[in-house]
Parts: sequence; structure tokens; C-alpha cells
Amino acid sequence: MDTKTIYINGRFIPENEAAISPLDTGFLFGDGLFETIRTYHGHPFQIDDHLARLRQGLQKLALPEPQNLKQCPAIIAELLGANQLSQKPGVIKLVVSRGNPETDNPNHTSTLMIRATALDVESIKCRQQGMRALILPWRRDRHNLLLAIKSLNYLENRYGLQVAQRKGFDEGIFLNLEGELCEGSFSNLFLIRDNRLLTPPLTAGLLPGITREFILKSANQLNIGCREMPLYPKDLRECDGAFLTSSLMEIAPLIELDEYKFDVDQTAQTRNLLQEAFRKALKI
Ligand code: PLP
Repeated sequence: MDTKTIYINGRFIPENEAAISPLDTGFLFGDGLFETIRTYHGHPFQIDDHLARLRQGLQKLALPEPQNLKQCPAIIAELLGANQLSQKPGVIKLVVSRGNPETDNPNHTSTLMIRATALDVESIKCRQQGMRALILPWRRDRHNLLLAIKSLNYLENRYGLQVAQRKGFDEGIFLNLEGELCEGSFSNLFLIRDNRLLTPPLTAGLLPGITREFILKSANQLNIGCREMPLYPKDLRECDGAFLTSSLMEIAPLIELDEYKFDVDQTAQTRNLLQEAFRKALKI
């Protein structure tokens, strides 16, 4: 198998030679941030929005911006080329960590790692056919700052997904302490009622998803009604359907959420209009 090329701290190197310090606080404490970006024909979609979210997170954590972050689009282009991904659907994983602030090296900066891999198209197609989600049994505190940034402290999400998968579901949905619906472990949540969209507000305690924002803007342009409002599991009873969004999946309908079952065909028209907005934005 070909060795992949990865970018770490200014160097393009074979992935099997890549290493970070065991004293890197990203490794020790999850002290850092990441972004997952989808590429279409060699173009990272919504890259400016991903970098803006990353920079906001860096500011919140008082984490110095790596000098080479500005070169990110060029680094991604080179990585896609080096890994033969310029014409294929790809995934960019970008990680910034505080590095090792205890080092004696005066030139010390934060760690920047960028990796490009092929998108698992089959698994995405499968999700786009319909997903089953369960409401997770513990609650989130909406005031937790870490919910609004893509921090390397992702274990609650990973564990939430594991709990859902162990019970045969594809995604786990978090509620906050007030019992409001928040988001999935790797996705944002939308409900469809009378051809209108409803989605939990950021104040419920969730990641400001880049795809969520894209859907809100597209719905507005398409004159599809859309409200950000507190939503509860009982609201699922009155809705016609629901879907999840993420950079990798775009839009994936829910066929089941806890005790509620949805006929995906009933809301296909609304979803298709939104799906079309992606193709237009991508000019494909
Ligand atoms: N919510 C959480 C917790 C996530 O991890 C993700 C993506 O990984 C999303 C929402 C969707 O965000 P985006 O649309 O920016 O990919």
C-alpha cells in the first residue's frame, strides 16, 4: 500500500514517520482544536468558515495561532496532490494543539497537523439513505464553553456514539439539562414540520456546524421557512421528518429517532431542494 503524505509543523512527511512529542498538551490533555473539511474535486468546501470557526476557538482557549495556518489552503492543495486526491472526494483533518509550552525551545509554537484521506463514499451514501438515532441517557450543560468549539476533548461525543452504536443505532442525540434537544455526537439536528425547518438554537449548547449554517442560509434563499427555537423530544410527535447535517454527510434523513419513526419520502421534496443548494454552491 502507498504511504500517505501528512503535514506536521511545516513539513510534508510520510505518514508512518510522523510523530508528535509525548509532552504535547494536545496529547496529554486534549488541549487543542480540530476541523473536518470535505473536499470536492480538490476544493475544500466552506474552508473560510472552517478556518474562522477554528480561529474563534483558538481565541477562546488563548491558544496561539500557528504561523503556517495562513498557508492552509496551499498546504491542503499540496496534500491532495501528493495523495492522489485532487479528483476524488476527500476529507481534510486539521488539528491544532498547544504543543509543549514547557519546552526550552524559544521558537516553540503550537502544533499544526493536516491530513488528507479519501472519503468513504459508500458509508456516506448509506447514511444519506436514512439513519437511526437514539436520545442519549445523560444531559449536557448548555453553559459548557467546550460545546461551542471543536476541541480535542471529544470523548463525550465518541462515547455517546459508542453507546448509540452498541444499541444498534447510527447516532446519539444529546439533550441539555433543561431537556431540550441539542445535536448528535457528530452532527446537527433539524426537524421538518409542514415543509418548514426547525432546529435547536446555539444557546441550547451545541457546535455551530458549518453545514447547519449553510442550511439556514440556503433555506432562507429558497424561501423555506426555518426557525431556531428550543425543541423537546415531545416535538418529534408533531413533525413529519428530521435530518442530521455534517460536513461529510451533508444531509442525512432520520428514519427513526427514539420511539418515533419517519417516512423519509414524505419530506424528500424539502430535503432535495436543500441538497440541490450544495450542488449549486459547488457548481457541480
Ligand atoms: N455537532 C458535532 C458535535 C460535530 O462533531 C459535528 C461535526 O463533526 C457537527 C455538529 C457538524 O458540524 P459541521 O457541519 O461543521 O461538520
